[in-house]
Amino acid sequence: MHSVNEIAGFFRDVPDFPKEGIIFKDVTTVLTHPGALGDSVTHLLKLLEDIEFDAVAAVESRGFMFGGIIADRLNIPLVLVRKPGKLPADVISEDYTLEYGTNTLEMHCNSLASQSKVLIIDDLIATGGTALATAELIRRDGSIPVAAAFLMDLRFLGGARKMEEAGVPVCSLIIID
Ligand code: AMP
Repeated sequence: MHSVNEIAGFFRDVPDFPKEGIIFKDVTTVLTHPGALGDSVTHLLKLLEDIEFDAVAAVESRGFMFGGIIADRLNIPLVLVRKPGKLPADVISEDYTLEYGTNTLEMHCNSLASQSKVLIIDDLIATGGTALATAELIRRDGSIPVAAAFLMDLRFLGGARKMEEAGVPVCSLIIID
């Protein structure tokens, strides 16, 4: 089993992507190490041991990999939070600000039982706009965002603090101060 330190070391820093001044933490170099994907989920689930949740909301696109494995291992529902125009049925939409731009997220309405306790999952939290918009989608759909989990937390950008202030505890495997 890969340690958290090893997994942290598998991330590749790509400077000036997608914009000058951004250091992109590339998770694809974690994926090319066989077993690292599943091991990172095992570590995350250990961190989440004390949190009660009964559904997972995974954020496009890198969150899908982690969210899919978590939902499958725990045998709970998975909902996909996607970029605009990708989901085929009725959706709710939420605008948000990204570290490097603005965007909109969508989620199918009524795909979860009302008052589901939902874990938000993505590869990384930066300024927190994406995760906050996801929490808002979950609330507007009648469920409760009980926690948000990330492989990596760029803590210095303040996203985790914003989530905590919005009442959503954050669990991150790798924290960059
Ligand atoms: P934010 O909304 O600012 O918290 O940004 C989080 C989302 O953007 C996640 O889906 C990340 O995958 C992606 N992201 C933002 N900044 C970075 C970064 N520096 N490196 C890798 N992914 C990033």
